[in-house]
Amino acid sequence: MEIILFGAPGVGKGTQAKILSSKLHIPHISTGDILRTAISKKTELGLKAKAIMDLGNLVPDDIMGGIIKDALNDPKSKNGFILDGFPRTIEQADILDKIFKELGITKAQLILITAEDELIIKRLSARRACNACGNIVNLNYLKDSKKCPACGSVDSFIKRKDDEVDIIKNRLKVFHQTTEPVLKYYENKSDLFVVDGTLPVDEVTRRIINSIEAKK
Ligand code: AMP
Repeated sequence: MEIILFGAPGVGKGTQAKILSSKLHIPHISTGDILRTAISKKTELGLKAKAIMDLGNLVPDDIMGGIIKDALNDPKSKNGFILDGFPRTIEQADILDKIFKELGITKAQLILITAEDELIIKRLSARRACNACGNIVNLNYLKDSKKCPACGSVDSFIKRKDDEVDIIKNRLKVFHQTTEPVLKYYENKSDLFVVDGTLPVDEVTRRIINSIEAKK
């Protein structure tokens, strides 16, 4: 099963992708995570990507095409995958189309998660990651804003550089200008399922699973 999760930054793609990956037993491929790992390992890719990501701009399509080709050709992806954060440009959608053809993938399920920009800005500016276990939290929903509910670590939360308000606003601008038009690209090629990302997390998951089941 091949799933493409589509939506603005902060809409909940990563959260849903993780849940779906464990329920459906297919890998979660997040291009943002791949780039962040490259940055933390200080690889050549990481060094190129860092300045671009810190500003909330898009890493060039040729670089992203190489990353996604490797990820989809990995044997782990042979029974399907959940794409989170790719494609983000028409050029990337073209690249993906070519890779799908090479791999004999004839249709992917396209899922759009929606939310208003204002809510996204609120969510992302309160988003933190636990430096000890990687758990992602929202400070607005924590009883104790210092303690990680997953591993119990105290004072271990870190904020992504691109979750500062000015950068979030640029990421949203890039989404509306460059990524949203990709939906048009898929209009006649793929069924689109739209889900309201402001609903509780488990309700969003339930709706996505129902839609996937219905298309089996
Ligand atoms: P994300 O974790 O998906 O919000 O991605 C974080 C950042 O990584 C984005 O703001 C971009 O700078 C970069 N990035 C991730 N995926 C892509 C992509 N498909 N194309 C270009 N840049 C990307």
